[in-house]
Amino acid sequence: MGDQFEIHPNPHPVARAEREALLANPGFGRVFTDHMVTIKYAEGKGWYDARVEARGPLPLDPATAVLHYAQEIFEGLKAYQLADGGVSLFRADANAARFVDSAQRMAMAPLPPELFLGAIRELVTIDRDWIPGTEEASLYLRPFQIASEVFLGVRPAKEYIFCVIASPVGAYFTGGVKPVSLWVSSEYTRAAPGGTGAAKCGGNYAASLAPMVEAAEKGCDQVVFLDAVERKYVDELGGMNVFLVLDDGTLVTPPLTGTILPGITRDSLMTLARADGRAIEERPISMDEWREGALSGRVVESFACGTAAVVTPIGTIRSEAGDFTIADGGTGPVTDSLRKRILDIQWGRAADPYGWTSRLL
Ligand SMILES: *Cc1c(COP(=O)(O)O)cnc(C)c1O
Repeated sequence: MGDQFEIHPNPHPVARAEREALLANPGFGRVFTDHMVTIKYAEGKGWYDARVEARGPLPLDPATAVLHYAQEIFEGLKAYQLADGGVSLFRADANAARFVDSAQRMAMAPLPPELFLGAIRELVTIDRDWIPGTEEASLYLRPFQIASEVFLGVRPAKEYIFCVIASPVGAYFTGGVKPVSLWVSSEYTRAAPGGTGAAKCGGNYAASLAPMVEAAEKGCDQVVFLDAVERKYVDELGGMNVFLVLDDGTLVTPPLTGTILPGITRDSLMTLARADGRAIEERPISMDEWREGALSGRVVESFACGTAAVVTPIGTIRSEAGDFTIADGGTGPVTDSLRKRILDIQWGRAADPYGWTSRLL
């Protein structure tokens, strides 16, 4: 099929006053726009029936494959309302490419990137009044794909639905950036070599919920997962990648060996730091190195990164072996400056020498 979307505007959009009230304090992931985009796939037919329509339930037969074997992938990106009234995206082409990689790992039909980007463009255009205009608030876009074939056999499905929904989200940190506390899970791991850790699939998140509950019981905000083989090296937070800042200014982050998600924020921050002349090491980080480094002063800052929260300082780390705090437990200057640098590019407040932002409107 070509890049053709049939457009059926929602006959009952949310009234303006109600929308504005919702946009005043949207939180994260609980307010949704008037529309969605869907595209179907069938083996032998390819992708077809691309539609923009009123957001609503997807009718699914109880034997739909995704409900049983979790053939599902997703992405997360934001549309930004610029000061001049325009709307832009940040590295959406990288999300489209990663969506193809995730599909391949889950043996799903890959969606051509031009359809992924076309769907986003259509949804942002029709729902542009839902993009918050307030500082650091944005329209979070959630493309996802499910196995929609009605079949209980265990094999890759022959039918899929791709869908994009949009959710206005407030600033992640209200009242200033606050460092998070992490719980080191010694019982659970997130991804093993050869597994699905590098794919953005819902199943990885399902497996991370029990350790998240454990972290909350320990009084922590997030879980940090260790490698599944030696239970010694830092993988990631299960939704954010991790960086350490050393006392000589070097950034250290775990390598992409298949057990962590290749974050676009991670990649962007490495590019920005490299341009500053900062040394970057992609190598395994042991929990011992992190703890001893924090105690000796070799590790001066640590942060997590991802699209939703952008850059989040890590304050205290708690485990069965005891707690430790990075520096004074606050937000370090490198973390703060990288956070500002990437936000300024995303919001069109700074030059974009890498061509990361694209204007939609
Ligand atoms: C999405 C995600 C990230 C962050 O990736 P970004 O592209 O920076 O948003 C990190 N870890 C996991 C497991 C993720 O799903």
